[in-house]
Amino acid sequence: MRQEQHGNGELWESLLRLSDESEELVKNSFRAIDRIAERNQWKVIEAFKRHQVSDFHFAGSTGYGYNDRGREVLDLVYADVFGAEAALVRPHFASGTHTISCALFGVLRPGDELLYVTGRPYDTLHKVIGKPGDGKGSLQDWGVTYNEVPLLEEGGLDWAGIEAAITDRTKVIGVQRSRGYDWRASFTVAEIGEIVKRVKAVKSDVIIFVDNCYGEFTELLEPTEVGVDLMAGSLIKNPGGGLAETGGYIAGTRESVEAASYRLTAPGIGGEVGAMLGTLRSMYQGLFLAPHLVGQAVKGSVFAAALFERLGFESKPKWHEPRTDLIQAVRFGKAEHLIAFVQGIQQAAAVDAHVVPEPWDMPGYENPVIMAAGTFIQGGSLELSADAPIREPYIAYMQGGLTYAHAKYGVLIALKKLVESGLIVIKPYIP
Ligand SMILES: *Cc1c(COP(=O)(O)O)cnc(C)c1O
Repeated sequence: MRQEQHGNGELWESLLRLSDESEELVKNSFRAIDRIAERNQWKVIEAFKRHQVSDFHFAGSTGYGYNDRGREVLDLVYADVFGAEAALVRPHFASGTHTISCALFGVLRPGDELLYVTGRPYDTLHKVIGKPGDGKGSLQDWGVTYNEVPLLEEGGLDWAGIEAAITDRTKVIGVQRSRGYDWRASFTVAEIGEIVKRVKAVKSDVIIFVDNCYGEFTELLEPTEVGVDLMAGSLIKNPGGGLAETGGYIAGTRESVEAASYRLTAPGIGGEVGAMLGTLRSMYQGLFLAPHLVGQAVKGSVFAAALFERLGFESKPKWHEPRTDLIQAVRFGKAEHLIAFVQGIQQAAAVDAHVVPEPWDMPGYENPVIMAAGTFIQGGSLELSADAPIREPYIAYMQGGLTYAHAKYGVLIALKKLVESGLIVIKPYIP
């Protein structure tokens, strides 16, 4: 490493030393992550083989997009990989929130109730759920009622509370797999399977919906393989494999996916129309790459947890805890630490490293948010990125890294910025 690249050479030596120690500590976790990535890689390839994916599937259609075989086969491949009856994978989903909104509006009707059992959902969904009479066409504006069961103090599921909250009107049970911007645990696929079992024992015809954002390919199974009826995610997160330029997916039972497709386009049209333009190759190739890239990103998260835990910061999950999503939360306690960390991650990017992120009022979020997003795909967060709402206790949420090396250096450069700003002191390395 050229000294002038990293300025203070002694400091950089100390950071590399800390980094080596952290990697040594996590080596068994890394091996386990590699095993998951390999098995998911093969799962994806098998689905491609089964559906005889060919070069002509990548061509893309125009206009109405009738009989776009590439689109139809992509749906089948996704359904297979996720162990679901059906899937709808489209560039026409503008974001994860739009995808989730289509799924929920697809299956809920006035008078039904949506019950979230994993506490308060992700910030951007608050306005999808809305308020009665908000005039915005939100779920509650349309007469769908909403209830949520908060997580227990220690972040666990309140089983008694969940069972008590299920009523005749409960139509959809909402589950958020990933922590989002919350200092809580994410829910593993096994835990989601337990939710399915317990909830269906109380009410068998309820639709279990999972917001699967950031979860795909971090484990061997997906929620739809343990009885979940409907799930949704973003293609500029895990399953797009860094290549999909936009879009989302919905997977689940044939009936639920069809209902969602009528929200995306129009009743009677559903998934049969929709030109894929030039998006198909990147969606297929991104899905092919996704298991590996997710593995790289998860390693980056484990490394960051190990490093910051050594320095006395609290992290969630801890480095040795099981992973079910990409997100690594680190609690900084002070706004200036948080901002320096996020700015440091940006400095390590290949794209827009010269830009200094500042907190801003982002649409759909309730506090100012600062984001490091030096990415090839705007806001793509399988790429190394960090976001944080500027609110106590000043927690940074970092995720992604298309290569482990990028995630690792990103974290080290962020740490260096904290040290150089005089916010953290680390022991000098004495050879
Ligand atoms: C990212 C995310 C969303 C929303 O996706 P956008 O693409 O930002 O609209 C919803 N839920 C969770 C848990 C997420 O991580």
